[in-house]
Amino acid sequence: MVDVVIIGSGPAGLTAAIYCQRFGLSTVVIAGRKWGGQLMLTTDVENYPGFRHILGPELMQKMRDQTKDLGVEIVDLSVTKLDTSKKPFLVTAEDKTFEGKTVIIATGADTKWLGVPNEGKLRGHGLSSCAPCDAFFFKGKPVAVVGGGDSAMEEAQVIAKVASDVILIHRRDEFRAQKAMIDKVMSLKNIRVLYNTQVMDVIGDTTLTGVLLDTRVISPKQGVASFDELVVAFSGVKKTNTQWELPRLGLFVAIGLVPNTQIFQGLELDSHGYVKRYEEKDENGVLKYFTKTNVPGVFTAGDVHDARYKQAVTAAGFGCMAALDVQRWLAEQEK
Ligand SMILES: Cc1cc2nc3c(=O)[nH]c(=O)nc-3n(C[C@H](O)[C@H](O)[C@H](O)COP(=O)(O)OP(=O)(O)OC[C@H]3O[C@@H](n4cnc5c(N)ncnc54)[C@H](O)[C@@H]3O)c2cc1C
Repeated sequence: MVDVVIIGSGPAGLTAAIYCQRFGLSTVVIAGRKWGGQLMLTTDVENYPGFRHILGPELMQKMRDQTKDLGVEIVDLSVTKLDTSKKPFLVTAEDKTFEGKTVIIATGADTKWLGVPNEGKLRGHGLSSCAPCDAFFFKGKPVAVVGGGDSAMEEAQVIAKVASDVILIHRRDEFRAQKAMIDKVMSLKNIRVLYNTQVMDVIGDTTLTGVLLDTRVISPKQGVASFDELVVAFSGVKKTNTQWELPRLGLFVAIGLVPNTQIFQGLELDSHGYVKRYEEKDENGVLKYFTKTNVPGVFTAGDVHDARYKQAVTAAGFGCMAALDVQRWLAEQEK
């Protein structure tokens, strides 16, 4: 049995591990088959303090090395079950089980797909959610990116370096990404934007050849006066009075994330599937715990509970907070 089992090895999980180990708590990290988390899917990171510029996988390797060097055991398996019905908690990771006095859940969140009819068939055949991973396959080809947040801007920038041209498809008239990221994307000469446009389906027999779109309101930013003009401006094919086909050989989906919480029975989740946090104050109204879940002894950190900030540095911060909460909670149990 260990003091703390940490599930997940992104910035949240590894930061929690570093703190727990340094507090003298015996610590195991169940890293997941895809260790390192979301930053393994990106290239340039320029907003993590201490690194003016670093590649995402390089940053995660450094965090992992630091964690290991401190003596934390890291197991590259995926957790399949967390039994919180008795203490110690039982964490099953494939064919292994681990007992923990406490658990920190730091499993992050994964790509949300479009849910259109042909998506399953074309995923991996022109349809992707990871420009840094798949950019190589789209060298010199026309592609599109769907989304309007930071991830969409990131994907568009990465793929624009290799694709012939990129069309950024957004269902609203305004992006919700950070201004600096929007400005960077807009400054690239081979990126154009389609506003107020929804993806209805992906088209292609064995590989993606186009995207079926629906545009009901023409944005003034589009620089055209009518639907027909818009279709012509993007070399599309009109299908109905609102629907049209945009010929593309690649589509990158960047519309949001699904928290990795499906395996956690008995744990309270919010309506979007994120782990619910329960802040606790002491008798003087001072914050005592920030990262508690509904199960005493189970804590949470990072994107798995955070639908708002979703950054490596905030995930790391939450990891630190969870470790501090675990230390305090264990000390209280021993009183
Ligand atoms: C393309 C892209 C670019 C980004 N660029 C930046 C950037 O430049 N700067 C920045 O600050 N942020 C960036 N982010 C956001 C940042 O990556 C995340 O906010 C951060 O990684 C969240 O950390 P986390 O530890 O909470 O979760 P994650 O990084 O998602 O890590 C979750 C971990 O849990 C593991 N896991 C999941 N399920 C299980 C299971 N059942 N058993 C065991 N382990 C499991 C996963 O394998 C993974 O190791 C970017 C995100 C993306 C997608």
